[in-house]
Formats: sequence, structure tokens, C-alpha cells
Amino acid sequence: MAKPRVAIIGAGAAGLSCAHELERLGCQPVIYEISRSVGHPFPHTGAILEILFRSITTQDLLAFARQTYDISLMPLNRVKKIIHISANSRSIVQGDLGYLVIRGQLENSIDNQISDSLKNTHILFDHAPDWQKLTKVYDYVVVATARKDIPASLGLWQDTVSTSIMGAIVLGSFDENTLSIWLNNDYTNKGYAYLAPYNSKRASLVLCVANIDTEQLPAYWKKFFTIEKFNFTVVEEFQTTLTAGLVYPHKVKNLYFAGVSGGFIDPLLGMGAFPSIASGVIAARSTIYHLDYEKEISFLINLIKKVNNIRNAFIKLNNTDINRLIAILGLPGVQQLIYRTKINVIDHIHSLINLW
Ligand SMILES: Cc1cc2nc3c(=O)[nH]c(=O)nc-3n(C[C@H](O)[C@H](O)[C@H](O)COP(=O)(O)OP(=O)(O)OC[C@H]3O[C@@H](n4cnc5c(N)ncnc54)[C@H](O)[C@@H]3O)c2cc1C
Repeated sequence: MAKPRVAIIGAGAAGLSCAHELERLGCQPVIYEISRSVGHPFPHTGAILEILFRSITTQDLLAFARQTYDISLMPLNRVKKIIHISANSRSIVQGDLGYLVIRGQLENSIDNQISDSLKNTHILFDHAPDWQKLTKVYDYVVVATARKDIPASLGLWQDTVSTSIMGAIVLGSFDENTLSIWLNNDYTNKGYAYLAPYNSKRASLVLCVANIDTEQLPAYWKKFFTIEKFNFTVVEEFQTTLTAGLVYPHKVKNLYFAGVSGGFIDPLLGMGAFPSIASGVIAARSTIYHLDYEKEISFLINLIKKVNNIRNAFIKLNNTDINRLIAILGLPGVQQLIYRTKINVIDHIHSLINLW
């Protein structure tokens, strides 16, 4: 049987994973990429945290990706410690909490790792195609641009959170297995910030401020540095925006939505790598086997909707409430329950919020 012709728009985590699976199923996809290289536009160290995905697997996440999606990724390091920091509280959790990964154009980034494994995919760089034309030329088109414009133009997109993001590569002294997360409305405005080390001397510092005008971002960044009394050397800065949303349906005629463009990102901490890889692979399988994409991805959508409800409760908290929350997270019994067992924390928090 002739294999379908598939075009993918966007060579990020979702688009590359989609191409990887299409190749495995005997296709030769074409990727259209607006920039000159594959992957997330801003080189940084990112995190993949297992606690969020326990409804999908209680297995090691990278082992799960290898076994279920045939995507093998080499992480930078394990996350062994997370420090949660609020205005007046701090708690530390330890264990096998997930992975630090390299993103973007850097050597060994997970984006480059997937790209390097492709053999029969044609990537057209510097191309931002007209998606409507593509749907007429190809059997299937997978949108994986991490932007909302295409689903929004079809009336399929509903914003959940818009964040203005400032990031930097900073020099200092870091523990390679420690991720620090800040929740302080004085400078995150219901968003968050994190520091993820690249090595013991270099780290990514990222501030995600929710629902502000982008011009206000430098002032929030300055406040972040002042309040936290950072004395890092900043070697490179970037600024961007990221809008998370809910999409329905995820397939219209021969057009599929994957990755952030399909709403596959957690709206609380912005963890989009794992859902993007999963949705890209599942989109590929759906085109080849004529599967019901909506049904196949429902486990991801259910999780994202629950996290979104948790976020809606979280944004009602002020700094005092967040201090209490962080203090509770530090209690040995709570730590034992959340981090040393594999209980589905998202489901439990979600049920508690509903009861409330
Ligand atoms: C600063 C930052 C930090 C993040 N950190 C984390 C993290 O630590 N952990 C985590 O899990 N997630 C993180 N995320 C979320 C991240 O978006 C996902 O991890 C993941 O990259 C989403 O995959 P994607 O394929 O949907 O989008 P991307 O990986 O962003 O890829 C989209 C691709 O589409 C291309 N493109 C855009 N428009 C067009 C067009 N019109 N035509 C053709 N190509 C186009 C882009 O150039 C890009 O290559 C972060 C996001 C940002 C912005």
C-alpha cells in the first residue's frame, strides 16, 4: 500500500517526534521549519518532572518514552533535589524526581537527538508555509509550531495562560542535580521561575510571568534579581512569550494539532516536552492507522485539564498562602507520601479542589 504523504509544520519536540514515528512506519515526511535549525528556539536547560505524569506512567519517564514511543533520549542529569522557594518559605525535596535536559540548538539537546535519528525526513529550513495550501497538497498536515494562530483561526483554541518569559544563561556555582523553583507573586504574578544547571558553573535561569504586557517584563526580571539578591554573571538573555490553551477538536479534516499548538503543555509549570513528544508520535500513528486521534490523546488532555483546574485554584493564592503551601510540602510526612510513593498527586489535588 502506498504510504500517505505527510507534512509537518515545525521542527520542535512534537514535529520531530512525529517525523520519527512516521519514518518508523515507512513514511518519508517533510518538515517545514521557519528558522535555520531544529528545536526549541532558545537554547536552555529544561526539566522533565515525573510527579506530573504519574497518571500516565509510574515508570521512569525516559524508559517509558523509549518503550512506548520508541524515542530514546539522553538526559543531561537526573533531578535529585528540588528547592521550592516562596516569599517567606523554602522546602527541599529529594529523590529521583526527573531529568534535566538540554533544549534548542545546543549539542546533545533532546531536539537534536531526535533530529539526528531521522533518516528519511526532508527538513525545509527557512520555510513558514501556507498551511491551507499544504492541506491540499499532502494527505495529512501536522501543525507543531508551538503557536496558537492556526487553531485560533479555526476557532478551536481557548487560552488558559499567557506568559511572558525572560531567560538567561548565568554563571555561578551550582549543584548539577538540583532544580530550584520560585513561586512569588511579587515577580511571577501567578507564574513561576526556575534555575536549571547545565553544569556546576553554568545554568539557565528562567522567569515566566503570567498575564502581563511584555513591556513590563524587564521590570519583573529586575525585581526577581533584587528580591532574591542574585549575584550571578548573566552571559546571554532571551525574551519570548508562550501561550497555553485548550484545543478542540485536535483534528479537522486532514489537519492535526500536536505539541503546544495542540494544547499539549501543562499550564501550571509549563512542562511541555513530554506531552509534545507523546502527541507528535500519536498524531503520526493516527494518520497511518486511521486511528481516532481525539480518543488516542484523551489521556493527555484529561491530565492537562486537571492541571488547568489546579492552576485556576493556584492563581487565587496570595504570597502568604503560597508560603504555607511550601511549608506543608516540606513536612516529612507529606514528602514521604508525595515523593517517596508513586501516588497520583495530580488526581488527588484535583479531587480535593473539587471537594472544596
Ligand atoms: C523558555 C522556555 C522554557 C521551557 N522549559 C521547559 C522545560 O523545562 N520543560 C518542559 O517540559 N517544557 C518546557 N518548555 C515548554 C516547551 O514549549 C516544550 O518543552 C516543547 O518544546 C514544546 O514542543 P513543540 O514541538 O510544541 O514546540 P517547540 O519545541 O517550540 O517547536 C516549535 C517549532 O516550530 C517552529 N515554528 C514556529 N512557527 C512556525 C511556522 N509558522 N512555520 C514553520 N515552523 C514554525 C519553531 O521555530 C520551532 O522549531 C519551555 C518553553 C519555553 C518557551
